[in-house]
Amino acid sequence: MVATKMYELGAKANLIRTLYMFGLQQAETVGEENVFDYSIGNPSVPPPQAVSDAIVELATKYSPMEINSYTPAMGLSEVRQGLADYMNKTYGAELKADNFYLTCGASASLSIIMKALIEQDGDEVIIIAPYYPEYKTFVTVPGGKVVIVPPDTKHFQLDIEKLEAAITPRTKAVLINSPNNPSGMVYSAETLTKLGDLLREKSQELGHPIYLISDEPYREIVYDNIPILYVPKFYKDSIILYSYSKSLSLPGNRAGYILVPGGVEDGKDVYTAVIGAGRALGFVNMPNLYQHVILKCMGMTSDFSVYDQNRKTLYNNLSEMGFDCVYPSGAFYLFMKAPDGDDMQLMENGKKINLLLVPGTGFDCPGYVRISYCKQPEMVERSLPVFQKLRDMYK
Ligand code: PLP
Repeated sequence: MVATKMYELGAKANLIRTLYMFGLQQAETVGEENVFDYSIGNPSVPPPQAVSDAIVELATKYSPMEINSYTPAMGLSEVRQGLADYMNKTYGAELKADNFYLTCGASASLSIIMKALIEQDGDEVIIIAPYYPEYKTFVTVPGGKVVIVPPDTKHFQLDIEKLEAAITPRTKAVLINSPNNPSGMVYSAETLTKLGDLLREKSQELGHPIYLISDEPYREIVYDNIPILYVPKFYKDSIILYSYSKSLSLPGNRAGYILVPGGVEDGKDVYTAVIGAGRALGFVNMPNLYQHVILKCMGMTSDFSVYDQNRKTLYNNLSEMGFDCVYPSGAFYLFMKAPDGDDMQLMENGKKINLLLVPGTGFDCPGYVRISYCKQPEMVERSLPVFQKLRDMYK
């Protein structure tokens, strides 16, 4: 009686949420302080003070009509202009307000862009392992076919040859995510250059553009002074998806955007289809209040120094214990190899001592676990002997 696809989606437990729920249950039995939950990627640092100040100012000094009324579907023009100005100043882009469509975060942006681009059942979208598991849902629900490029486990960049092999005449788009969830890796300029060259060549060969969709919810969370790269500089047919969930620590308030830069082939059509997809989906537009907040907090971020501290503590200590870790250069995830290659067993062993790690199998990268280190540093310090216990199980 109901849509099978949707029923299955609702009934199927998500591995990360299941682990998180296990952690909450364990906390009731053994005490919260004895559970080391590295499962979920929920920001652990507060939004900057400017966010609270903006909310107070908007609630007390603005007319209730101004902050509660409908906005244009694509978002308030002054907010989109503010975004264009900010991006132009920061990345040397040449954007206008009309290149932006404000959404309820990256999930909404992904749902919209897939619905906007996928025309026929079986249109292909390439995703690169390891990847955010919900990508599959966003592609398949509007009828798209997911094509997976296996991981480059040597450098966790992008295996260009494997990507090339995955491209077919039905390829609509390639979806990338850097800084990456779950590997913590950031794509280098060299990787983006090679990617741009390949997509230009293949688009020409196929006679239609292959859009590069860059999912960037962790854009500003980079370490060791790594430069933040503006993807359209490497490939003009790039569409950017952004979210304030991590950069301003606002995951529960749903704010983000889709950026279709002016140089994108058939960009006006893409943008119009984005408006159409937003209309069809119906629930995807950024709330009025948060549009104003975003404008007032343009260019600000939460203080990521705690993530950096946790990153160093974990990487250094786990490496010393003999765990093989991917050096994390962005986001708040550490990807660690299972000593015997069995990530599912490593998760089970961790659960026995209330140390919750997400198996890489869930990200199509078996053999690794993801450690979400958006946690209090004090908890991270206390977890080190527990990691040692885990390591000792493999002696
Ligand atoms: N894309 C990636 C790579 C993510 O890690 C997440 C959330 O963790 C999302 C998209 C969804 O983000 P949002 O909260 O903006 O919907």
